[in-house]
Amino acid sequence: MSTVLQLSHFIDNAWVPAASGEQFEVYDPSTEQVIALAARGTAPDVDKAVEAARRAFPAWRDAKPRDRAALLFALANALRERAADFAHWEALNSGKPLARARREILGTARYFEFYAGAADKFYGDSIPLGGDYVDFTLREPLGVTAHIVPWNFPLNMIGRSVAPALAMGNTAVVKPAEQTPITALKLAELALELGFPAGVYNVVTGYGEEAGAPLSRHADIDGITFTGSVEVGRLIMKAAAEHIHSVVLELGGKSPIIVFEDADPAHAAAETAKAIYSNSGQVCSAGSRLLVHERLKDDVLEALVARSQTLRVGPALEDPDLGPLISREQFERVQGYVETGQQEGARVILGGTRPPERARGLFFSPTILDNVRPEMRVAQEEIFGPVLSVITFQDESEALKIANGVHYGLVAGVITNDLGRALRMARGLHAGQVFINEYFAGGEETPFGGYKQSGFGREKGWEALYNYTQVKNIAIRIR
Ligand code: ADP
Repeated sequence: MSTVLQLSHFIDNAWVPAASGEQFEVYDPSTEQVIALAARGTAPDVDKAVEAARRAFPAWRDAKPRDRAALLFALANALRERAADFAHWEALNSGKPLARARREILGTARYFEFYAGAADKFYGDSIPLGGDYVDFTLREPLGVTAHIVPWNFPLNMIGRSVAPALAMGNTAVVKPAEQTPITALKLAELALELGFPAGVYNVVTGYGEEAGAPLSRHADIDGITFTGSVEVGRLIMKAAAEHIHSVVLELGGKSPIIVFEDADPAHAAAETAKAIYSNSGQVCSAGSRLLVHERLKDDVLEALVARSQTLRVGPALEDPDLGPLISREQFERVQGYVETGQQEGARVILGGTRPPERARGLFFSPTILDNVRPEMRVAQEEIFGPVLSVITFQDESEALKIANGVHYGLVAGVITNDLGRALRMARGLHAGQVFINEYFAGGEETPFGGYKQSGFGREKGWEALYNYTQVKNIAIRIR
């Protein structure tokens, strides 16, 4: 029998049990077994973490940027060296396939490396005001930043927002998702080993309402980055209104992959499969609506069904193509959407429930809903599972109208060999990023974030540095 991990908060470089003395259970979604007991954080734990981060802030802010960078580079290297161990825990706890978990850990290392490189290069400006003045700007950190993270990319999203925050001289308090707290704490072990000063990186584990909410409304945080649902995003914004702290929201999507009649059906099918089945569809930027030209539909669907049937669904550590969904609640939600789609008139042409060879567990088959109309709930709402809605269009303007006809606007894919069309679509799409001929193209270097209810603020790349700094202008009269 494997042992159950005992997890504490990480505050001020110390392992701290919950003030309440309580714990909560953490599962392996591949087996639904308990793998850890974690500290059940509440407001007093959050207070302690924010106090530690506040105490650490002045020295971290005033450190030489190159010294902050050195620690962040060391963290990146250490993550690479221990990628196998981190990937094991990430896969075990989140259900994601092992190879994918490993890529995400390496991606996390890349965030720390990228932003370490930025620490001593994010310059201010010198502004010409004539001979009587010297004027320049300083880019100052915000102070204490809060990071509330979801379960679908547990460590990678910590890297995405904590790395730029720390690089710019902020100190951080992280609240991982209650489903997936393990790797956030393993990162703390590394930070401790590498000599990060106390209070620079803190982790409070617990449930959203008990630990996330007090963090989001804490009077002494200066900014918050939240990734998760629109409902909770709204609460985060309301909480920020009380003390006027800055907010970055990344709230999901219902992103289209748009296939024009000149596309190669096999290529379109491969990109669509990647867009919807990666991480079992539990990706905010998943391509969950296939908008396909009516003339190409049969060819694309034939190739897509054939490809989908080859995919293996299974336990994360066996490195399948699709791991389980994160929880029973999520399984039922995804199943419920398939039924809703059928009631609305969609036709299930593949999957629709768990694979026949997996009679139990949280495994869900690659699923394709055909005959979907743009106004259906399965074409409007985020399902967060491997469920694709197929919609046809006749021309460019109809494709654009359907693509933009949702409340979300995170990403969009376009498959065409016509450059003019690709660029017209890219201009017209309401989305923070457009992928042309390769879904998910881009990387840690490219800005990411949403239009409309997908949120605001941009993470990744150089853009993210603006989230974690504020500009001070200094004007000096010299005669
Ligand atoms: P999901 O539905 O994908 O679990 P949520 O938006 O519920 O997404 O959760 C994302 C993160 O937000 C998690 O870390 C969760 O604990 C946290 N969270 C949930 N509710 C609240 C809340 N009321 N205030 C602050 N954080 C919350």
